[in-house]
Amino acid sequence: MENNIKGKVVIITGASSGMGEAAAKHLSALGATVVLGARRADRIEKLAKEIVDDGGKALAFAVDVTQRDQVKKLVDAAVEQFGRVDVLLNNTGIMPLSLMESLHLDEWDKMIDVNIKGVLNGIAAVLPYMKEQKSGQIINTSSVAGHKVFSGSAVYSATKFAVRALTEGLRMEVNPYNIRTTIVCPGAVKTELLEHITDANVRQANEDYVGAVGISSDSFARVVAFAISQPEDVDINEIIFRPTSQE
Ligand code: NDP
Repeated sequence: MENNIKGKVVIITGASSGMGEAAAKHLSALGATVVLGARRADRIEKLAKEIVDDGGKALAFAVDVTQRDQVKKLVDAAVEQFGRVDVLLNNTGIMPLSLMESLHLDEWDKMIDVNIKGVLNGIAAVLPYMKEQKSGQIINTSSVAGHKVFSGSAVYSATKFAVRALTEGLRMEVNPYNIRTTIVCPGAVKTELLEHITDANVRQANEDYVGAVGISSDSFARVVAFAISQPEDVDINEIIFRPTSQE
């Protein structure tokens, strides 16, 4: 049976570590051409080389998703090189958790810029191509924290609730163009995400929790592959997954 992944051009943001990196490896192993975006060029170039050395097709493109022109250049480069864009995995995110009373205002701004505006920049860059193609899939990474607010997660959760809202709104608008949208909501996954928490107590508590229950990034890669692999007339709108032992 065809996997409906082979030959697809998949752009992945946040591909330099964690779940984006795992998705890139898994999808390329299933035959996708992957276009890797993140700021750390050395990491995505190394990953792209590994994929190409293994017989796959990959392109690395340094991008800061908060910069709309850079995101457009990433997508334009993918189309120029490979002729089309079938999937955008808008996966970039940061999670500097803190209590609101600590007033980490710069971190609030950064989360809004990366987690919301970054996703919008990706959507804006691929939509004209996907409308023209009359096909495509936009997969946005939200979170269990996009369904449920925890103490310390107010702003992060707000950004992830926003990702779900804008993805569902987009779905209703773009289905006439045969464009699918998917929200993926992971629970605790062991990645580099906690490294940016500046509040020592909040970071320790999260490291203890994710260290105890967190699962591997491969879980995310499999979920994304499942959503892409459906026949074109089936749109997996949202998937929530979490460690079996997560509350
Ligand atoms: P990582 O920190 O390992 O990965 C985050 C990725 O985002 C990195 O590749 C990083 O690359 C990239 N990134 C950060 N800022 C920017 C930017 N301004 N421009 C471009 N790329 C950027 O974390 P995860 O793999 O865990 O996170 C992936 C997604 O999953 C995020 O959206 C996160 O919110 C979400 N999530 C994670 C959960 C978890 O438990 N791990 C649970 C639920 C959701 P670079 O620094 O090179 O730019």
